[in-house]
Amino acid sequence: VTRTSISSVNPYTNEVIREFPAMTEEELDRAVETAHDAFQSWRWLAAAERAAVVRMAGELLVERKDEFARTITLEMGKRIGESYDEVDLVADILRYYGQHGPGMLTDRTVPVDEGSAVVANRPLGPLLGIMPWNYPLYQVARFAAPNLVAGNTILLKHASNCPQSAILLERLFRDAGAPEGVYTNLLVPAAGIGRVIDNRLIQGVSLTGSDRAGERTAERAGRNIEKTVLELGGSDPFIVLDGKDFDRTVEAAVVGRMSNMGQSCVSAKRMIIVGDLFVEFVERLRDRFAEFAPGDPLDPATTLAPLSSEKAAENLAAQVRDTVSQGATLVIGGGRPDRPGAFMDATILVDVRPGMRAYDEELFGPVAVVYQVADEDEAVALANDNPYGLGGAVFCRDLDRARRVAERLDTGMVWINHPTSSRPELPFGGIKCSGYGRELSDLGIQEFLNKKLIRSF
Ligand code: NAP
Repeated sequence: VTRTSISSVNPYTNEVIREFPAMTEEELDRAVETAHDAFQSWRWLAAAERAAVVRMAGELLVERKDEFARTITLEMGKRIGESYDEVDLVADILRYYGQHGPGMLTDRTVPVDEGSAVVANRPLGPLLGIMPWNYPLYQVARFAAPNLVAGNTILLKHASNCPQSAILLERLFRDAGAPEGVYTNLLVPAAGIGRVIDNRLIQGVSLTGSDRAGERTAERAGRNIEKTVLELGGSDPFIVLDGKDFDRTVEAAVVGRMSNMGQSCVSAKRMIIVGDLFVEFVERLRDRFAEFAPGDPLDPATTLAPLSSEKAAENLAAQVRDTVSQGATLVIGGGRPDRPGAFMDATILVDVRPGMRAYDEELFGPVAVVYQVADEDEAVALANDNPYGLGGAVFCRDLDRARRVAERLDTGMVWINHPTSSRPELPFGGIKCSGYGRELSDLGIQEFLNKKLIRSF
């Protein structure tokens, strides 16, 4: 049998760091059976015991933060400081569900005329997670932590370009006390995952990734009557209604677009500026983008890190090139720095119109599109003229006005006077082509539960 292999490639040098043999079909089948077997005991533990394992994983993660942060940066290229931030956020998520998870699973009594009626929260069984590389730890944690506390067992197919992060996570949960089969890493490329979805022992699938992967996965899961949660792409609007605290607003735009080198589903991808402020906004943003210079992401002083892969950088550069040839104007950047590594210039586009690639597609990297609109109504119309509906941000000192605009945005999340962000206690998710379901908060633990009625007389 020839095995495909899964490679860890450093996007700063484009060199292969390590290669791993992908799992065979037999190994995948066995992993699912082991997860099913493990479920038979894991489900009957007290939620507090399961939560203790998740809390311990958080403690071990803090002890191992250097190894985790370095591995993320080597595999997908993010700036080392941001890798440490990700580790901290994930420790918070593990702590949050470790502490509050059991309380979110309390049975609910329904008032009835005779006897009693209880709705109990019971786990479903082995779940499959399909996760992307952009936040290699966070994406996994927000799926795994609540579901482990709930009593489900986890099979995790991580993105093919971050196998080392995936392996570290599996070891973390094992070392924290999860018995064999409770959390299992599946080293398998996307082409091989259908077999796992088709396995009748799998009870649900959660995917974070592109809409294409979401479509395929939901279709296949649907054929098997497996529930799905989909966290897909986004093209978040960043609406500026007035010029108050302009420095802060511009800085928020820089953070909103350039965090994780723009490779976030909730990046501020479309900046929508009301009125004459547009000119000054673009100038200030250009001055700030001019400061981003390529370097080694392991060096804390580096401002412009590589994208996750050469292919990602090439795709983004092509989207920008095509948009410019369709008539848009480049304010800064637009190409790729003349050096090795998966770099893309910090780029600003204006004069972007419907029908151009940058208008219709998600830009997953350091490319800002800035639009000028006449008023609030135009801002809302432009913001909503998009297939996605994930997050959004509104900047305005008048909070009532900001909330009115926020109310009119067709998205799952809106932040006011702050770029879209994520915290363990806040629900995260979208509508339209951004998917369905919610992660994090008390809602995140409800997605894969059997709401089991026990009616007695
Ligand atoms: P991707 O190609 O869809 O990859 C994500 C995961 O899906 C990977 O594990 C990938 O495996 C797998 N996959 C790909 N095609 C599949 C298929 N046909 N069937 C089953 N699984 C499949 O995503 P990406 O382009 O690398 O990641 C960026 C996308 O994720 C963006 O669109 C971004 O907005 C979105 N995202 C959304 C959220 C959110 O919360 N809404 C958060 C972060 C990112 P392989 O690596 O083996 O191909």
